Amino acid sequence: MSLDLKSLVRTIPDYPKKGILFRDITTLIEHPEGFRESIERIASQYRGQGFTHVAGIEARGFIFGAGVAIAMGVGFVPVRKRGKLPGTTIGQNYVLEYGVDTIEIHADVLSNVHKVLLVDDLIATGGTALAAVGLMRRTGAVCDDAAFVIDLPDIGGAAKLEAEGVKVTSLMAFE
Ligand code: 5GP
Repeated sequence: MSLDLKSLVRTIPDYPKKGILFRDITTLIEHPEGFRESIERIASQYRGQGFTHVAGIEARGFIFGAGVAIAMGVGFVPVRKRGKLPGTTIGQNYVLEYGVDTIEIHADVLSNVHKVLLVDDLIATGGTALAAVGLMRRTGAVCDDAAFVIDLPDIGGAAKLEAEGVKVTSLMAFE
C-alpha cells in the first residue's frame, strides 16, 4: 500500500476551457495497481459499517463506484443524467456554471432500510454531490458518507457537504 496514487493522475491545462486545470483520472485507472489500490483504499474505510449500496455519479463515478461496491460486497446504484434510466425516476436539479442540470435514480431502488455511500471521482464545488445526497435522502435512505478520489479543497465542496451532515473522505487533494 505504498503506491503514490497522486502521481498517476495527469493534469491537462485548458480543458474543457481556457484556464481550467483538468485532473485526468484515465491515467490512474489505466494503471492496474493504481486502479486496484484506489478501489481498495476507499472500500477499506467503509466495510463493516452497515452500508447496503454504493451510489456512483455518471460517468466517472461509475468506474470507481462499481469497483468499490464489488469490493464492499454491496449493490450499486447508478446516479444518471436526465432521461437515461428506463424505469420511473426521481430527479434533482442542480446549478452548473451556465444553467441547470438534473440527475436521476430509479424511484424504487432505495428506501428507509438502506444506507448508501456516495462515490465520485472528484469534488470541486460540491454541487453535483449535494444534489446526489439530496436525491438519496428523499428516498428515506441514509446517505451521510461520500468518498472521492480527488478533492479540490480550495473550491470548498467538501466543506459544503460536511455542513449538510455528510462525512467526506478523499484519496488525494490538489491545491
Ligand atoms: P462539482 O459539482 O463538485 O463542482 O464538480 C464535480 C463533478 O465534475 C464530478 O462529477 C467530476 O467528475 C467533474 N469534474 C469537474 N472537474 C473535474 C476535473 O478536473 N477532473 C475530473 N476528473 N472531473 C472533474
